[in-house]
Amino acid sequence: MGLIFIQLKKGKTMRPFFDLAKLTERKIGHGFLIDNVPLSKILECNHSPVYVTSLNAVAERVNIYQTTLKKYFKNNSIFYAMKANFSNPILKQVQETTAGVDIVSIGEWRAALKAGFSPQKICFAGVGKKEEEWREAIEGGLGYLNVEHLDELKDILNYISDNINKLKFIPVISLRLNPCLEVKTHPHLKTGALDSKFGILFEHFEEWVINIKQVFPNSQAFQEWISPLKGIHVHVGSQLMENKIFSLIIEKILECASFMFENNIKPYHIDLGGGLGVPYEGVSLDGTDISVHVEFFCSTLINLAKKYKKLHILWGNQCENLFVCFEPGRSIVASSTVFLTKVLYTKHNSNDHNFCFVDGAMNDFPRPSIYNAKHQCEVVNFENSEFLKQNSLRKKIHWQIVGPVCESGDFLSKDALLPKLFKNDVLAFFEAGAYCRSMASHYNLRKLPAEIFIKNGKIIEIIEN
Ligand SMILES: *Cc1c(COP(=O)(O)O)cnc(C)c1O
Repeated sequence: MGLIFIQLKKGKTMRPFFDLAKLTERKIGHGFLIDNVPLSKILECNHSPVYVTSLNAVAERVNIYQTTLKKYFKNNSIFYAMKANFSNPILKQVQETTAGVDIVSIGEWRAALKAGFSPQKICFAGVGKKEEEWREAIEGGLGYLNVEHLDELKDILNYISDNINKLKFIPVISLRLNPCLEVKTHPHLKTGALDSKFGILFEHFEEWVINIKQVFPNSQAFQEWISPLKGIHVHVGSQLMENKIFSLIIEKILECASFMFENNIKPYHIDLGGGLGVPYEGVSLDGTDISVHVEFFCSTLINLAKKYKKLHILWGNQCENLFVCFEPGRSIVASSTVFLTKVLYTKHNSNDHNFCFVDGAMNDFPRPSIYNAKHQCEVVNFENSEFLKQNSLRKKIHWQIVGPVCESGDFLSKDALLPKLFKNDVLAFFEAGAYCRSMASHYNLRKLPAEIFIKNGKIIEIIEN
């Protein structure tokens, strides 16, 4: 083809598996490649708006998490938080990497089983689980269960002790700790501060343990009853960009672990949650964003644990007996996917108010309207190649990219600096893999966008929805 694909490959924070040619080359579907598949092949499928995902990009990110974590802890797991994107080909791809999956509802449990995950590689989190939900999962052989309420913990422990002979497998239960820390992110994405509905405060847990012990005739009976509680889980929020907070989190975990140990509870499982952010520019080509994050967390844990001599009895001097896991969602899938949408019309209300109407809307691609999220937007195909010859590309306009939904909150971008746009030009929104398709709705009774999955240079699956 002879085109030089530069734009997305220079610098460190760019997008693996996506290649975009310079503006004048973006015509007849040849100026944009996704894992080597030209846009023309995707346009032939005739779906717009559409999500296009590189499954190799997903696998690569999971692998970086796994290989980095393995360097520190031989007992480990990555649980992909499938609420970020539950599409079956993505789940299957994650499953093939041997990672587990983090679920938050019984619907996700069923989708995970359907994608081939072993129940023992599933971690059930969720701030408001129904009894019928956790029962179905426990009876189905669930591996890990994170609790968010002390009453929930009590109900689950009672259920397990009442059914101990019937259950084929007892899940590892972890207490989700609210570490009471303020993090810098969107208020809707914070989950670990005093004003948060998530997790359990340490002082509440302390009080609970002291009271509940007295209900048991002796310490052995208490120990037996509480024995499935083996872990501590922390997840302080999503789209986090600073590391400082993580050492404070580890301190809180260690404090809680030593309290547990002193009270005949044996925490050997630490779940460090998800939350690694993905910047506007995309993720690094070589995955250093992930490896730096995981290395920081793991080395901090090992270092700070040195102060807690008692815990060495349980964990070993280097924490070699500890099981450590992460539950990333966004950082695995965000940059694996673009959202493609076609131009319908343009409207210029004034020099400063230029609207570009596209066939995708807030119900298809909801993050801009829900979180005020900004996604890089590029024209990836000009319908009219003649226009490119006129050199009018130099003059860029500030566009509002808006959709067909009947409300002013329906926008995909408030300010996209792009050249003149015409009907059927194709726009791409990047970092569209996380919390986009999974949050799409039928609002206005619109059809859900289609999804195209690419692997090893081929389109391997199309979901029409
Ligand atoms: C949402 C969520 C995650 C994943 O968060 P990301 O920001 O997508 O990495 C992990 N753990 C829990 C408990 C969650 O609620």
